[in-house]
Amino acid sequence: MELNNDEIRRYSRHLILPEVGMAGQKKLRATSVLCIGAGGLGSPIALYLAAAGIGKLGIVDFDVVDYSNLQRQILHTDADVGRSKAESAKETINALNPNVEVALHNTRITSQNALDLIRPYDIVVDGTDNFPTRYLTNDACVLLKKPNVYGSIFRFEGQASVFAPHLGGPCYRCLYPEPPPPGMVPSCAEGGVLGVLPGIIGCIQATEILKLALGTGTTLINRLLLFNALDMKFREVKLRRDPQCPICGEHPTIKELIDYEQFCGITPEPEKSHMHPDDVTVQEMKRALDDPKLNIKVIDVREPDEYQIAHVKGTQLLPMSELQQRFTELDPNQQYYLHCHHGGRSMRVLQFLRQQGFKYLKNVHGGIDAWSDEIDSSVPKY
Ligand SMILES: [Zn+2]
Repeated sequence: MELNNDEIRRYSRHLILPEVGMAGQKKLRATSVLCIGAGGLGSPIALYLAAAGIGKLGIVDFDVVDYSNLQRQILHTDADVGRSKAESAKETINALNPNVEVALHNTRITSQNALDLIRPYDIVVDGTDNFPTRYLTNDACVLLKKPNVYGSIFRFEGQASVFAPHLGGPCYRCLYPEPPPPGMVPSCAEGGVLGVLPGIIGCIQATEILKLALGTGTTLINRLLLFNALDMKFREVKLRRDPQCPICGEHPTIKELIDYEQFCGITPEPEKSHMHPDDVTVQEMKRALDDPKLNIKVIDVREPDEYQIAHVKGTQLLPMSELQQRFTELDPNQQYYLHCHHGGRSMRVLQFLRQQGFKYLKNVHGGIDAWSDEIDSSVPKY
């Protein structure tokens, strides 16, 4: 099908590029891309691909827009807070370019649905923020022979590559055979991220997708691009396919999708209302703070910057990052309640201290977030 006059006007700056031209623009229109995640990376990726005239964009996201997303997730606006990210994304994309077909997958990508989700698309782009989904995306793409345009971000640093063993390059597992021990690598929610960083890495991913679709230029296959925003430096690492890789190597042992939560050592998140045997509620934390006779100390294991944003009076700060050096300041026979932002880190601290011989430990379920919801709304949420 020829481009109509509206399309010719819209894409005119592409059409006059010899590397794109009329034939290239038609290739873009014939290309479908599945974007896993409509967050920090997914935002610039989806916006630029839509603007460039990619024919079909699939968006996988089960989350809803939160105020804390708006600092970087430019698909969503203030008015979208509380809405489905996938739906908000579709609205923004179609406002930019109504020619783009947007397919919404308002669901979590899992081992059960990943192959069916990915199969209809030409290219997959990884905009995920966690290791199980990243390994899942990688394995599904290797099995289906789809290029996987990878990007990841943390604080001021990002990286990008294109994984496509069927085109001669390595896969994510060749680069990172093992996931990091659970809890050792903080997420952006725990460690923070510069708002513009996903813009830079996402734009690199979008560029790679356009080149793959056009079949032009030299892609990041076989290369890992590393970016540091503080130093404003790019570095490049040569990548090699690992012949022993369990999924793309010469004798693959992974022939179907596995349990990625288990592979990454993550115990499934309990339901929000579900209490762990080691948990106490924020009401019990309040009782401990209000009544010194109970002789319970409440330790805040978040980082000092988080403590500055919000803290509960009467708690003692001992950041998880300093725990290894400082846990000897605590008394193994004292009763402690441990709290963090949402309850995840404090549970890991509890497990660590228990290994060190501490006897009387409890984890505050829901952390300071629940405190703000249930006890004192003047404590800001972040
Ligand atoms: Zn591999």
